[in-house]
Amino acid sequence: MSSIVALTESRHSVCVYCASSNACEPRHREVARTLGGLLAEANCTLVYGGGRSGSMGALADGALARGGRVVGIIPRFMRELEWGHEDITELLEVEDMRTRKHEMLSRASAVVALAGGCGTFEELMEAITLKRLGLYLGPIVIVNTGGYYDPLLEQFSRAIEGRFMDSRHGAMWQVVAGPEEVIQALETAPGWDADSISFAAVR
Ligand code: AMP
Repeated sequence: MSSIVALTESRHSVCVYCASSNACEPRHREVARTLGGLLAEANCTLVYGGGRSGSMGALADGALARGGRVVGIIPRFMRELEWGHEDITELLEVEDMRTRKHEMLSRASAVVALAGGCGTFEELMEAITLKRLGLYLGPIVIVNTGGYYDPLLEQFSRAIEGRFMDSRHGAMWQVVAGPEEVIQALETAPGWDADSISFAAVR
């Protein structure tokens, strides 16, 4: 049911998880900046963690530079530490990390994960876990820059082979090599519906 037309015409909100680090390879910031610009061009609202450092800041700046709408959701303590990006379209302050994660996902019709650290992993894992349970139904696209996520993808394969997950769960995420492939992957992601709860528990 998803198509290019559906994605661009209805101004989807795309939630992007990515690194706060400024110390990782610069190409991760470049990927984030490029993705921000592409989402803006596709008329998608960007939802993200509201930070201004690392890939998070580059992502938001890339979208803003192309006239995109950027909604950041940041816990109060981070804003007090002046980690927030105050120049985005809307910076929403929330009570804590859990509320932030919940708000980010519930405002999004699709999720994209770029390379990141434990924060990005946690956010990605939660989206996948909720999708397995039929509580989040949108696409999840993993941008595997330079093979960064190869070990994680291998771990998912092991989980499926070991029957911790069903083979059908392998359709919950799509993997792309770079930001230029993200929009197409979002548009062509296989559908997922709440009936997936029927095979959430592997028997
Ligand atoms: P990571 O992938 O570990 O860098 O985590 C990214 C996530 O960590 C973000 O979504 C935030 O939850 C949080 N985070 C860590 N450091 C910062 C920061 N300086 N500014 C904003 N968010 C941060």
